[in-house]
Amino acid sequence: MNEYDSNRIRNALDAEATDNPAEADIIIINTCAIRDKADQKAFSSLGKYKHLKSNNPGLIVGISGCVAQLYGEKLLERMPYLDFVLGPRAIPRLPELIKTIENEKQRTVETSYDIEELFDIEPYHSPGKVTAFVSVQQGCNKRCSYCIVPRVRGDEINRPLGDILRETRNLVDKGVREVTFIGQTVNSWKENGYKFGDLLRAAANVENLERIRFTTSYPRDITSRMIEAVRDVPKVCRHIHLPVQSGSNAVLGKMKRTYTREWYSDIVKRLRDAAPDMAVSTDIIVGYPGETERDFEDTMSLLEEIQFDSAFSFKFSPRPGTTAAACPAEETVDEETSGRRLSLLQTFQRDVTMRKNRARVGQVEEVLAEGPSKNDPGILTGRTSHNRITHFRGAGTLSGRVLRVRITEGLFNSLRGELSV
Ligand code: SF4
Repeated sequence: MNEYDSNRIRNALDAEATDNPAEADIIIINTCAIRDKADQKAFSSLGKYKHLKSNNPGLIVGISGCVAQLYGEKLLERMPYLDFVLGPRAIPRLPELIKTIENEKQRTVETSYDIEELFDIEPYHSPGKVTAFVSVQQGCNKRCSYCIVPRVRGDEINRPLGDILRETRNLVDKGVREVTFIGQTVNSWKENGYKFGDLLRAAANVENLERIRFTTSYPRDITSRMIEAVRDVPKVCRHIHLPVQSGSNAVLGKMKRTYTREWYSDIVKRLRDAAPDMAVSTDIIVGYPGETERDFEDTMSLLEEIQFDSAFSFKFSPRPGTTAAACPAEETVDEETSGRRLSLLQTFQRDVTMRKNRARVGQVEEVLAEGPSKNDPGILTGRTSHNRITHFRGAGTLSGRVLRVRITEGLFNSLRGELSV
């Protein structure tokens, strides 16, 4: 979502981007507030640009994204060299805001949620890139007890179907062959009686679009209509990212995730029955307040049962204003326990991922070639339908084509292969 927003910011400004901060007229740090570490990183990045202001007083420095929304006005007080604070929903207002700063020399905060032109600014698309994100939704209507997203991104607003398809067609005209629909709970998308499954079917009709992905799915919002679309539409990739967060019903209840582990397992089963080769990845939080050893064992047993293709796992990080952050001190899981649990979980998952990747050796996979690898121009990089990064020898002119690749090696983060005839 942040990558998408950064590219929208670039388009909103209609300016050339530079990698050299010393030659920039405007510097914007687009931030994430999902974890404490991410927001600390945003502050230290901002600090790095302070000295540039003394050499170039005309330089405009701004902060955007979720940290901007979360702290608003306070950021201007804390950082005298900061010119503006821009919330994630207010990106379409950026050009206006820059004008105000230039003409009136006024420091500004724009964090309103109420932006009519919410989806008006589409992202910058790098020439030659064959994959792209398309936002179908902003905000979230769920209220998971640990999550700051609804507070910083507001309630869910779904983008009209016609708009999504128009952006998809424009991207295909620019050479894009794979789109990823993004939303905080992407599969809760609905508009005028259309549901997410209908969106997948409608997008599949876009000519010359080869593949459709979507992220992030919310387990409770998976419907039969969606499963049928995933089953029936060959352009829909065989991968779903489906955060479970915990395998303990007690913890899931405290997290307000609105499903049980049995319910989650059943959804995964239904998806795999419909699309037998479906890859499933997930997110897990360990050390949630009150998580006992037994709760953690439940999470481990769920991992064993589901056999995820990959998992992103994190230690619980309290975020300001969330219910989880206000839990009684005695429920806090200490750092050492969280660290031990995280390490056990990651070691277990590493083995499962390795085993699954090695099991692909000898198979022929369809890989969308995305372009030459950064380290070796003779090697192409792409992804299988199951979202595995794959490297293989081939000419750069093959970029944008779905190729048959025989897998020769399975590593933890990627596969290696060779073009197959
Ligand atoms: S569904 Fe996701 S974005 Fe929404 S509140 Fe829960 S964790 Fe946050």
